[in-house]
Amino acid sequence: MSGRTRGRRNPSVSTTRHAGLRTCVGCRARDERSALLRVVALAGNDAAHDDVAGLVPDERGRLPGRGAWLHPRPDCLDLADQRRAFPRALRITHKVDLTRLRDWIEQR
Ligand SMILES: [Zn+2]
Repeated sequence: MSGRTRGRRNPSVSTTRHAGLRTCVGCRARDERSALLRVVALAGNDAAHDDVAGLVPDERGRLPGRGAWLHPRPDCLDLADQRRAFPRALRITHKVDLTRLRDWIEQR
């Protein structure tokens, strides 16, 4: 029962542009599209590994299908892998093969 009502904090955070912000599936930080790598799953290309989806970097953002966003850094890739973020983000039930993605990131 305090008399004063001055609790409301002024949201001084100005209206930042939310368009173009994406969330990294690894560290969960939001960042500009340009700072993140789009990752897509290629499923079913390899008959021997029907239940495995190979993840590939989509450098130009042109590959069809659902994409996941990731900082092109090994630690974000590891985080995403540990928390199984890729199948969730990509809405797939396959196991994911990170080989190509990891190679690509490590070569940068
Ligand atoms: Zn990240």
